[in-house]
Amino acid sequence: MGHVHLIVKDAQASKQLWLKLLGTAPASDTSLDGVSMPGMYVWFHQAAPTGGTDGSTIRDLGVRVRDLQAVLERAARAGFYCRSTSRHSAYILAPENVMLELTEDPRMTSDAAADHIHLFVTDLVAARQWYTTRFGNPIPGTRLDFIQSDDPMAPTKGRSVDHIGFEVDNLRTYLDGLEAAGTKFEIGMQGLPGLRPKQVFLVDPWGTRIELTERPGYSSP
Ligand SMILES: [Zn+2]
Repeated sequence: MGHVHLIVKDAQASKQLWLKLLGTAPASDTSLDGVSMPGMYVWFHQAAPTGGTDGSTIRDLGVRVRDLQAVLERAARAGFYCRSTSRHSAYILAPENVMLELTEDPRMTSDAAADHIHLFVTDLVAARQWYTTRFGNPIPGTRLDFIQSDDPMAPTKGRSVDHIGFEVDNLRTYLDGLEAAGTKFEIGMQGLPGLRPKQVFLVDPWGTRIELTERPGYSSP
């Protein structure tokens, strides 16, 4: 299971929009409030984002939907930018300028499910190596797809998609590997036993902020 953490001006309004637009389910967990779909939580933090996904290392959040036309009609009614790329795929610029890449899959049993997160990197080979060295293959969260960018993109911290997250069963096992790979943490181990999950924050070499959270039982996609 993975998550994305969004910074939004109005957390409740964003939650309602995600529920209605995509047919996701409400979700909450201790101090977190958001929505869930198979493969991904979307958590909302109420503050003023410094920008949308455009220009940052996170190009889009990829979501599979059962009925693309229905989603596009709702998005258009809500005034969001929509661009169809084929009969079964489209982009929507969702609330807070978060780019969503939608792909239709009529066989799905839910209205929406996580598909991928598209990251801009300046070196595809180095990016795949950086992630698999630290997190294994496949990585524990939502699938990451990399896109070559000739120019460096802006870091995600403070943007509407502030960071991506991986839920793991045992953080310690990952920390050993991360430390062995010479990883510097933005925020080290934190959390009080029984109150909050243990978590660390780090930033990949291209600017994507990553949260690694210990949540036993959540590690499978
Ligand atoms: Zn994408």
